[in-house]
Amino acid sequence: MAAESTFKLTYATMFNPPEELHQKFEAALAQVRASLGKEHAMIIDGQDVYADEKFEDRNPANTDQVLGIFQKGTAEHANRALAAARKAFPMWSRMKWQERVALVRKAADLMDQRIYEMGVVVAMEVGKNRMEALGDVAETADLFRYACDRMEASNGFITEMGRDPLVGFESTNLSVLRPYGVWVVISPFNFPCALTGGPTAAALVTGNTVVIKPATDTPWTARLIAECLRDAGIPDGVFNYVTGPGSTLGQALIDSPEVDGITFTGSYDVGMKIFRDFAQGRWVRPTILELGGKNPAIVSRHADLEDAAVGIVRSAFGLQGQKCSACSRVFIEEPVYDQLVQRLVALTEKLTIGDPTDRKVYLGPVVNRSSYRDYQQFCEDLSQHGKILTGGRVLTEGEYAKGYFCTPTLVVDLPAEHPLWKQEMFVPITTIAPVRNLEEAMQRANDVQYGLTAGFYGTPEEVDWFFDNIQAGVTYANRLQGATTGAWPGYQPFGGWKGSGSSGKNAGGVHYLQLYMHEQIQTRVRRI
Ligand code: NDP
Repeated sequence: MAAESTFKLTYATMFNPPEELHQKFEAALAQVRASLGKEHAMIIDGQDVYADEKFEDRNPANTDQVLGIFQKGTAEHANRALAAARKAFPMWSRMKWQERVALVRKAADLMDQRIYEMGVVVAMEVGKNRMEALGDVAETADLFRYACDRMEASNGFITEMGRDPLVGFESTNLSVLRPYGVWVVISPFNFPCALTGGPTAAALVTGNTVVIKPATDTPWTARLIAECLRDAGIPDGVFNYVTGPGSTLGQALIDSPEVDGITFTGSYDVGMKIFRDFAQGRWVRPTILELGGKNPAIVSRHADLEDAAVGIVRSAFGLQGQKCSACSRVFIEEPVYDQLVQRLVALTEKLTIGDPTDRKVYLGPVVNRSSYRDYQQFCEDLSQHGKILTGGRVLTEGEYAKGYFCTPTLVVDLPAEHPLWKQEMFVPITTIAPVRNLEEAMQRANDVQYGLTAGFYGTPEEVDWFFDNIQAGVTYANRLQGATTGAWPGYQPFGGWKGSGSSGKNAGGVHYLQLYMHEQIQTRVRRI
């Protein structure tokens, strides 16, 4: 797609795609629909592996539709996958890094070739609209390439150091970053492609072998990534793909001494449990956690209110509010509060809701029954303690009857001490408050356990102040394309502060690959 036209798909450019993109998506949709309901295996040591028990992957827009049957893997499968990764590690880690780069690039090319099929699967499995779904796949291919580019730009992370000033000897020193070993990647449902593929590519290109465990809601996308890796010629055992419940199969991975490092992306509570459990090992092992968010947008009295309104609505309700970067809190200076709120409501009410594979649709369903119930409970609570300006109800009639459809919801007059100002809801609900001045807005913006993304609308001087004071890993100013969402590898490396992330270095950025390697200094001495 990107190769055949000048259009480059990113989350910031997705609002006006060429017609050709829609035609190709439609063709892939027809193809995928014709192949629904098949059984998909796990991949361990290059082999398709089946478990005794299975689970169904259903479409959240139409829960009658079974997308595929997947394996309910057990602790035994976790251990087999880890053993396969261990066995493959010596070969893979000793392979020249240039060869690993070539294989990972080939997988990225395959992903580009399969982008429409994979995009359709993402749309059907997660409930993402078509542009967001294609974006998830395109981002993954870019994350693969970015990891390869960084490996090259850093000369494989082999650096000559100073020579010791020894008389009668020559002493050379080399710094070499080397892989840890077996790496586990556990991913969430909402970006099943990028958040499975991104860490996997970083681990592979740096020489680790990998076990992938996707979310139970989205096993198919991860299977398609694994197929790209397999078809690119990455040897057996170097990557392994297992499916099954986080609480059993996932926990077995966390508890195994065979794991040398982990990247977990998901909720704060599960991430912190994993952090504590993983610390039970015999030594400290790298634990990259990418966790939740409660992302604020702050709007100054000097802001361009139209840009602010468009950016906030996109970030609040893109993917039904189920992005870790979703704009879930808005603080507006009093003089422009009424005007902006009115505009936010008007734009929100224009959003189209429906089957996310339909090109007209902006909001699909939430991912599962549990999120659907959460939404209803939050709305009940918010209507009692605040005022729902728009939304606040589920859609159950006609085309909506079989899916988890929720209306995008804006809430005002919620007391500052209400817990939902601080809890990540992960559904299409955003709370809005007026503030007397920007200091008050900043104090409230930072007064949460999270620090993932944040947005600001105001003057250039105010923007400097915002960047200086906000506690978040990805921050945007005056962005119409999305107040708090829409990061892209190489442009906006992604990661969080405080309870939103553990490493302090963002994925898709210049400091990321180093997290997957430990340093070895090699000193060689000879008499002269
Ligand atoms: P969860 O934390 O519920 O699950 C994430 C993954 O962890 C799933 O694969 C899950 O498997 C697995 N898991 C659950 N329990 C365990 C366990 N005990 N041991 C090992 N693995 C386990 O998150 P969601 O999938 O609901 O994703 C939404 C969350 O992810 C939100 O909080 C969001 O903010 C965050 N997120 C953060 C991002 C970031 O970059 N900071 C990006 C995207 C999302 P199973 O599905 O089988 O339960």
